[in-house]
Amino acid sequence: MDSAPTTMEQARVSVSYDEVVVWVRAFAAQVAENKEYLTQLDAAIGDADHGINMNRGMSAVVVKLDEAAGEQDIGALLKTVGMTLVSSVGGAGGPLYGTLFLQMGTAASGKTELGPDDWAAALEAGIKGVEARGKAEPGDKTMIDALLPGLEALRSALDGGASFEDALTASAEAAGQGMRDTIPLVAKKGRASYLGERSAGHQDPGATSSTMLLETAAATWGGRGGAESPTRGLGGTNG
Ligand code: ADP
Ligand code: MG
Repeated sequence: MDSAPTTMEQARVSVSYDEVVVWVRAFAAQVAENKEYLTQLDAAIGDADHGINMNRGMSAVVVKLDEAAGEQDIGALLKTVGMTLVSSVGGAGGPLYGTLFLQMGTAASGKTELGPDDWAAALEAGIKGVEARGKAEPGDKTMIDALLPGLEALRSALDGGASFEDALTASAEAAGQGMRDTIPLVAKKGRASYLGERSAGHQDPGATSSTMLLETAAATWGGRGGAESPTRGLGGTNG
């Protein structure tokens, strides 16, 4: 650091295995902190368990991470996260998040670090897995409505020559916008779809937790997009 020739920080070129672990832990912490909030959102249009489900799953993941200390394969790590979520969480959210991480892990198989394009490819594979499993399309008021804009913003920022950090920030912001844009939507998938038109006027819980996932990536790897993120302010249940 003190040998840097200018005051500008070195642009990040990749994330290491350990940094992926830090991100997964940060997401687990974010979910724990927002457990009540996510559950309240699900109470409005579902069965009031999304925060409980996600917290149960991510708590189990943290235990697995402790056991996996010393590994180096990011793909194997992400697959472990996915399998742990599938086996520890019921309902729709667990298997869908499980698939997201499993497919990310398959895309990142054998990698000991992820460059921006590796991250975009992993995210895309994860989203494709969620789409294949849940059959949700954009606008159906699901986690896809946060994840897909997050991926598209990441890609277009990178294509436009943005740094990895700036692309991560753009990705988190787009996910947050997608999350807020679920409010007026009528749910077409999952429990919320049972409410029909009455699902309109409420923010989707899964889109909210998915925004947290991309925000924690931006915060962990880019040093931004966490503390002042729009997601955290909305619940009002946690400081
Ligand atoms: P459950 O609906 O079984 O109670 P959760 O409450 O944990 O499970 O998760 C609900 C979230 O799962 C929804 O807010 C939505 O974002 C997401 N979801 C539900 N069904 C689908 C689907 N078919 N495709 C994508 N996401 C879905
Ligand atoms: Mg639920």
